[in-house]
Amino acid sequence: MSDTDTDTECSAVLDAVVVGAGFAGLYQLHRLDGLGLRVRVFEAGDDVGGTWYWNRYPGARCDIESMAYSYSFSPELEQEWQWSERYATQPELLSYIRHVVERFDLRRHITFGAAVTRALYDRHTHTWTVTTDSGEEVTARFVIMATGCLSRVSTPDLPGRDRYRGPVHHTGRWPHEPVDLTGRRVAVIGTGSSGIQLIPLVAEQAAEVTVFQRTPTFSTPARNRPLTREESDERKVGYGEFREWLRTTSVGIPRPLPVHSALEVSADEREAAYRSAWDAGVLGGIQASFTDTLTSRRANDLAAEFVRSKIRQIVHDPQTASVLCPTGFPLGTKRPCLDTDYYATFNLPHVRLVDLRKTPLVSFTERGVETTEGEYEADVVVLATGFDAMTGALRAIDVRGRDGVALRDAWAAGPRTYLGLLTAGFPNLFTVTGPLSPSVLSNMLISIEQHVEWITDCIGHLRSHALTEIDATDEAQDDWVRHVADLAAGTLYPEGASWYQGANIPGKPQVFMPYVGGIGAYREVCAAVADTGYRGFALSRLPDELPRT
Ligand code: FAD
Ligand code: NAP
Repeated sequence: MSDTDTDTECSAVLDAVVVGAGFAGLYQLHRLDGLGLRVRVFEAGDDVGGTWYWNRYPGARCDIESMAYSYSFSPELEQEWQWSERYATQPELLSYIRHVVERFDLRRHITFGAAVTRALYDRHTHTWTVTTDSGEEVTARFVIMATGCLSRVSTPDLPGRDRYRGPVHHTGRWPHEPVDLTGRRVAVIGTGSSGIQLIPLVAEQAAEVTVFQRTPTFSTPARNRPLTREESDERKVGYGEFREWLRTTSVGIPRPLPVHSALEVSADEREAAYRSAWDAGVLGGIQASFTDTLTSRRANDLAAEFVRSKIRQIVHDPQTASVLCPTGFPLGTKRPCLDTDYYATFNLPHVRLVDLRKTPLVSFTERGVETTEGEYEADVVVLATGFDAMTGALRAIDVRGRDGVALRDAWAAGPRTYLGLLTAGFPNLFTVTGPLSPSVLSNMLISIEQHVEWITDCIGHLRSHALTEIDATDEAQDDWVRHVADLAAGTLYPEGASWYQGANIPGKPQVFMPYVGGIGAYREVCAAVADTGYRGFALSRLPDELPRT
């Protein structure tokens, strides 16, 4: 495409705007481009990659095997790409994404360094006007929010940040230039998936590491290793069937499906199952050993105790081991973690653990951070404090639907969507892996591809039937919101103060946001809705006298 074409594309009314150029936005662009639509993508970052562009901290890697955590839409792409490790690092994931962008010629449609700040719906023309932080304004029939479930970082509201003389790095906004921690005293706040990946690598470099832990985490060993050519080639034979199988499971992670209740087998059989999961190095393997880990507190306690016994075996100092042992919430109700040598890192003489439940953080000081117990000096502070998940990036945009209603107001008591795909009163505004869909409870690549394909088919359907608008009905949305809440209430999930339900963000409504019914079942619901003429949605066309895009 020439510059002139690009200029023309910019000034005309577009068919679609996609917000975000991570895995979701890029695939959405590819599919809409394939329909022959005029599409523009706005991305706040300076390059493609989303999660894998921003999270450059030491140790960042996926925790679902790369051969499953990758696009499946192109068999040629699947066959030609060679992963070097079982769990790819952030640089490798980023180069994979860049390869996809070049291979499918996607870059020409993307504007980088452009954060979308506003999206306003015009009920007369059935179009959206989208504005970026640089003041650019475009109009489009459809808007697809591919803004990410874990893209808006959460920073603790700790006073005194201005006083602290050293650098503060958030894992989700890690600098592009190398951060040399050799010989430095490093304070790490947060022990979720990011902290757990980062801490062992920081300990390899730093002179002193102080880990500030509020809630201990259930983590199991990743058993990462190089992926041999033979192993990879073996998987590539029948790759399609493997992917198809993953799509029918509950979370899309390659691991055995549970058959028994933890309570119906002998203690020896139970121990053997947990041990086998521990040795396999698969995300959520312990909870997936039995059918009832996330529905029976007794079953859950058994699994949790197994992990705690492993922590006590690995960590030499009993006091440190005890602080690292998670208690007070069921295993799996906060996202599980996979690590490499996380617990063993606390055996190193220069690594210490501070229990923030006993001695909470008070403030930054000039030389470090202070808890109720005293000051800890640090040359660098790392915030591994997570994200305003699932709704944060969407609520950050001033989205106004029919009658000028703000999405923030429509979601004031928690997100309301139909299928996690659209919100009533916000026609033609799709959310990829939106709240109340399986999203973060799954292999995200599978959920992303499913949503993108559903959205593409839906837009194709509207166009081929000369329809201009799709909106969720209030009734279908109310039913879906209730259904998602009922499913979650039948599990132990609400007992974990997790980011799944907004518990990590002060003041955020506490609503369990992902759909827990499994990706296989969810897929069938979405397909049935489309097959029955988009049941639960209102489809309409513009009066003839109004312009069509
Ligand atoms: P993102 O990759 O988050 O991309 C969203 C993009 O939208 C970002 O680039 C952001 O800058 C942009 N954006 C947001 N708001 C705006 C705006 N207003 N204007 C313009 N641009 C905007 N999931 C798994 O299934 N397996 C894993 O192993 C795994 N590992 C992870 C590791 C880390 C460190 C993190 C943080 C998450 C991980 N996830 C994992 C979840 C991960 O977010 C998804 O797998 C996936 O990468 C999400 O892709 P996405 O395109 O939906 O969102
Ligand atoms: P997270 O799981 O939300 O963990 C944040 C950590 O910071 C928690 O330990 C939290 O404690 C702590 N924290 C937050 N605010 C704090 C405060 N004010 N004071 C003290 N401690 C505070 O965030 P994350 O580790 O970035 O992970 C987020 C999600 O991203 C993961 O669950 C996962 O889905 C994804 N991810 C995946 C990988 C991977 O392995 N592939 C890596 C990184 C991230 P509390 O628990 O007490 O709130």
